[in-house]
Amino acid sequence: MSSYWAAHAWLADGCRADVGFDVEEGRFARVQVGVEPRVGQEILRGVTLPGLANGHSHAFHRVLRARTQTGGGTFWTWREQMYAVATRLDPDSYFSLARAVFAEMARAGYTVVGEFHYLHHDPQGRPYADPNAMGKALIQAAKEAGVRLTLLDACYLSGGLAATGHLPLDPVQTRFSDGDVDHWQARVSLLNDSDQVRIGSAVHSVRAVPADALSKIGEAAGERPLHVHLSEQPAENAATQAFYGRTPAELLDDHGLLGRRTTVVHATHLTDTDIKTLGGTQTSACFCPTTERDLADGIGPARRLTDAGSTLTLGSDQQAVIDPFEELRGVELHERLVTGERGRFTPAELIKIASASGYRSLGWSDGGRIADGAPADFVVVRSDSMRTTGARPDQIAYAATAADVDQVVVAGKVIVRDGRHRLGSPAQLLSAALDHLGEA
Ligand SMILES: [Zn+2]
Repeated sequence: MSSYWAAHAWLADGCRADVGFDVEEGRFARVQVGVEPRVGQEILRGVTLPGLANGHSHAFHRVLRARTQTGGGTFWTWREQMYAVATRLDPDSYFSLARAVFAEMARAGYTVVGEFHYLHHDPQGRPYADPNAMGKALIQAAKEAGVRLTLLDACYLSGGLAATGHLPLDPVQTRFSDGDVDHWQARVSLLNDSDQVRIGSAVHSVRAVPADALSKIGEAAGERPLHVHLSEQPAENAATQAFYGRTPAELLDDHGLLGRRTTVVHATHLTDTDIKTLGGTQTSACFCPTTERDLADGIGPARRLTDAGSTLTLGSDQQAVIDPFEELRGVELHERLVTGERGRFTPAELIKIASASGYRSLGWSDGGRIADGAPADFVVVRSDSMRTTGARPDQIAYAATAADVDQVVVAGKVIVRDGRHRLGSPAQLLSAALDHLGEA
């Protein structure tokens, strides 16, 4: 057992002072407020937050950070650059890259990652000897980095959608596809949950999965988390409307894919009816503000979705930025730009979006909270850095960055201490991984 005393900690009822708690077998025990530190307790200065969830990640996109910023373009031209990286990865290079990226995430305060995974096969589209070699590379990477992982294994069947229908796979996309839902399901069924790993499902998008396959994927997913990219770009809406006469959200609803187990990612360009449908079905929506601005996607209706009944979560997506505080602030600050109002979300709502809501959408329904019996995942933020000095403890997330994360604990195990990850420098790990890929 280990025992802690936190000067300030975020509990279910807000930010509280003088909080004592124990950790037993990887879970919180005896969380008490307004207590003095005891002999033998580790003192946590600053503000202790529940574990922070990265609800949407593509680890390998990290290669593109600050390498795609000249020459203009759109989401679609960026995607060409991303595909060029996708063709070069194999299980070894994928592992070393993902390990560095997950270590960077841990160092930034993320304790659980939802990896939306579609790089399944070799560059010619042939299964590796182990058909889950790429997924297992991600699982091993997360294990070494110390974060929980939900592997959202994506079904990807078509090369896109035009007004005339679904397009054949481009050669670069062949490694994403299992050919049909049965083969996808058979491969995914070989993967198993373990202590810090959950297996979930994903529909890449209504562009990459024809409507006649959607219900079957929904059935195969069962009660496990099911994630879908939705309406990130107006072109997806236009093509779906032209071919199916429906919006992407309507199409998912038609096939029974919406509901509490489901998270739609981005949800940027929605109709009023889409918002009502997503909220009414209690579908979660994962916003990725730093990606959505980097890729010129637009600003999604965060407050309106929440008011309609959806739960918001956050993701770093294409890794232009890995910083949970930047994502959390992005949701609120983008709303301010659009509405001309401050305080569209309360500090408590933003912390919940970043923690418990994200955990639940990744299949860890009791995580992301500091409470008796919950998994002992927490993040200590310094309140004495040049960014955070003077911040009120309950508002520190408006000032802090990933650089202010001092300690990170997952399942009771310390993975970051004094701002250092247990594997060493994530930058050095990444530099070695980029060398390996010939990207240095
Ligand atoms: Zn994505």
